[in-house]
Amino acid sequence: MSQTRSRVAKRKFDVLVIGAGGGGLRAALQLAQAEANVAVVSKVFPTRSHTVAAQGGMNAALANVLPDNWHWHMYDTVKGGDYLGDQDAIEYMCRAAPRLVIELEHIGVPFSRLDNGKIYQRPFGGQSQNFGGEQAARTCAAADRTGHAILHALYQQNIRAKTHFFDEYFAIDLIKDDEGYILGAVALEIETGEPLIIEAKATLLATGGAGQLFRTNTNARINTGDGMAMALRAGIPLQDMEFFQFHPTGIAGKGMLITEGARGEGGYLINGEGERFMERYAPHARDLASRDVVSRAIATEVREGRGCGPNKDYVLLKVDHLGADVIRKRLPGIRDMVRTFLHSDPIDTPIPVFPTAHYTMGGIPTNRFGQVVAPQQQGPEEPVPGLYAVGECACVSVHGANRLGGNSLLDIVVFGRAAGNHIIEYLREHRYTRSLPEDGAAPALERLARWQRRGEGESVDALRTELKRVMEHYCGVFRTEEVLSEGVQKVREIEQRLQNVYLQDHSAVFNTARIEALELENLVDIALATVSSALARKESRGAHSRIDYPERDDVRWLKHSLYFKENRQIDYKPVRMKPLTVESFPPKARVY
Ligand SMILES: Cc1cc2nc3c(=O)[nH]c(=O)nc-3n(C[C@H](O)[C@H](O)[C@H](O)COP(=O)(O)OP(=O)(O)OC[C@H]3O[C@@H](n4cnc5c(N)ncnc54)[C@H](O)[C@@H]3O)c2cc1C
Repeated sequence: MSQTRSRVAKRKFDVLVIGAGGGGLRAALQLAQAEANVAVVSKVFPTRSHTVAAQGGMNAALANVLPDNWHWHMYDTVKGGDYLGDQDAIEYMCRAAPRLVIELEHIGVPFSRLDNGKIYQRPFGGQSQNFGGEQAARTCAAADRTGHAILHALYQQNIRAKTHFFDEYFAIDLIKDDEGYILGAVALEIETGEPLIIEAKATLLATGGAGQLFRTNTNARINTGDGMAMALRAGIPLQDMEFFQFHPTGIAGKGMLITEGARGEGGYLINGEGERFMERYAPHARDLASRDVVSRAIATEVREGRGCGPNKDYVLLKVDHLGADVIRKRLPGIRDMVRTFLHSDPIDTPIPVFPTAHYTMGGIPTNRFGQVVAPQQQGPEEPVPGLYAVGECACVSVHGANRLGGNSLLDIVVFGRAAGNHIIEYLREHRYTRSLPEDGAAPALERLARWQRRGEGESVDALRTELKRVMEHYCGVFRTEEVLSEGVQKVREIEQRLQNVYLQDHSAVFNTARIEALELENLVDIALATVSSALARKESRGAHSRIDYPERDDVRWLKHSLYFKENRQIDYKPVRMKPLTVESFPPKARVY
């Protein structure tokens, strides 16, 4: 192996950031501005990261439209997450939010404006004034293209700060030494197919979510959870993977997202009988109840025969009463999308919608400094030296069992910055690069070598399609013991079948075929984590809805799950209920 290794090119940096979405770029900016030598690796050109697709906006208690403060935002986030979120991290995030929105504005994000010149804010689901009172308006938006504006501003600032970019490089695996330090990663240059060892004193995973686990989803094709699978293979567990958010309003049958902002602007849902059914499920918040609540309501309406269309398999989102001006000004991207994919105009025709897989609440366990924390061989959990994670691949956990709309763009900016700051401290204490172990890159290179094989066998594409179908069918909005057990079996069979997968001769000329095989391996690992954790949790909380255990059970289940790849073991750890400076919000019944 050492021979192979000596032939592999090597680069050395202070910090390696894997992922160029909002999380990775916010961290890289903090580091580059502190004059650290930072490399960012991304499998697509940075501004094509999924952050670019975020529509609705970013939450911060600026109180520009209605009264607000961070403490109310904190309460809504704790409640929205069905009390599974860690309250120290939630307090930290909500307090930092107003300052970080203003900071984004200063680096060039063109937020929409009110007539008085202040930043426009729209109402979003799960937001309240005064700890559960009237609807709040907390989401700062750049029309319905907020993520686009944020990602482009961050990219430009990084170019200015001289961050080094490896565009279109695919990270395969982390490099770890005997003492458990993470020393960088092995990546593949997609264009040439050459591996590259990138050595670093600290490595940050910011690889985004795993929406490609499900057939119908809102995510980019690149969201295959690679960083989470890299962590699993490095012996780090994944936390709370049973909690996957289904967004209530995907375009029916296609999955593309219609932002919650459409309901924030006054849109509402109707069933096949023309009824505003959300009034029955959430009498107070109605269409702006939390996402898990609205998704379950839609699925229930359809299941009970009150859907719309020839097959009664969707409901309608009405925005036509808002008027052409509001739609043109506040929801232009939505209008474009509906016209492109449905050949109709939301200005005069309601939009057919159904829940679609959207957001990975679980991920790599971290503390609020972005340090990855994992149980050590004996004893309590400790930071993994040299390893950080932020954004959708991480679980800090601010979203608990269900994320509120507008809190993820906030999460990536807040914890991207926090991780950047903590890494600067870490670099001060770890001035010297530790030497790479002789065979540190071997596991990654062996994985890569496995995907040289060509010939007849199952194709990557067919197996991935099957995995996504299985996950949708056996691990969807409503779950039971029987269906989930079958799901675990099915995913294990798919894991076995990976051994028989070959790259088809004609496709093997492209490195992209190898990349897709590596992505499929990652997806299979994450699917197993998700469906196994879902089978183990015998209660309903947030997005995890068990028909056979319909109640939340705080006595037995107010705890985070931890799934380990080795032996497919599942452990649990307590929720951090203690905030930093205020009283904790104890669990109570969650009604909207
Ligand atoms: C359609 C849509 C709309 C949304 N709207 C909103 C909204 O309005 N408000 C809100 O708060 N949230 C929203 N979200 C959620 C939010 O946008 C995401 O959670 C967030 O942007 C994720 O950012 P990230 O930095 O963690 O990852 P991403 O932006 O997904 O970036 C991941 C990066 O990792 C890189 N990467 C991954 N694997 C590898 C690998 N193996 N090697 C190299 N590079 C790799 C990718 O190239 C990419 O650069 C939305 C999500 C979607 C899908």
